Amino acid sequence: MRKYVILGVQGSGKGTQSTLLATDLDLVHISVGDIFRWHVKSHTKLGAQVRRLVAAGELVGDDLVEAVVRERLQQHDWNFGFIIDGFPRSRRQAEFFLESYDIDGVIHLDLPDDEVRRRVLARRLCSRCGMDYNLIAHRPETEGRCDVCGGELVTREDDAPDALATRLREYHDKIDPVVELFRGKEYVTTVDARDDKVTVQRSIRTRLNLPPYAPEKSGGEVAAE
Ligand code: AMP
Repeated sequence: MRKYVILGVQGSGKGTQSTLLATDLDLVHISVGDIFRWHVKSHTKLGAQVRRLVAAGELVGDDLVEAVVRERLQQHDWNFGFIIDGFPRSRRQAEFFLESYDIDGVIHLDLPDDEVRRRVLARRLCSRCGMDYNLIAHRPETEGRCDVCGGELVTREDDAPDALATRLREYHDKIDPVVELFRGKEYVTTVDARDDKVTVQRSIRTRLNLPPYAPEKSGGEVAAE
């Protein structure tokens, strides 16, 4: 059983790296942001509560986030372990998590703010099937259209420049204490996220003593975060 947390600013490749690890090692990939986006899209009661915050790139309250994480992990569909992405985002969330679960490692993807802006402003999402694209690393074959379903590609609301600036500020205010807390427990492995995704994945595996990454075995391409 392996239990990991992956931390990193928006655009650092958390989604991509989590998917690569999860697919290969049979871990369940839990993205708290995806759970919220699903609720917003499905017009649930929770979706209505978080819609404005998610669209503005502001953090959802700790109580709500903890309830969502607790409920997700209670499903116990993670026989071989999990990798949780986008959580914890505050010291309180980290304390809650450490009290409730023992973890094997925290992967901290480190990316300078300039590179974050460059990557995030190039992200697109299919409005029909949800497939991710990136105009730098993963362009669609036809401009503005999804390769898989032909749906229109749109920008995530929270990828707009204002929302991104808010997220970067919040990220640094909140996440630095989280990293420090985990570092005190010797869990953290910091990886330079400027490298290409295969190099980053290989570094993560080496640092965590995991089986080496073989792209051909893992099914090759994954969508960018
Ligand atoms: P992400 O896809 O991880 O960037 O998350 C998208 C949005 O979901 C964030 O901008 C927040 O509004 C919300 N969110 C996701 N994870 C958390 C968290 N751990 N704490 C508070 N809000 C969160």
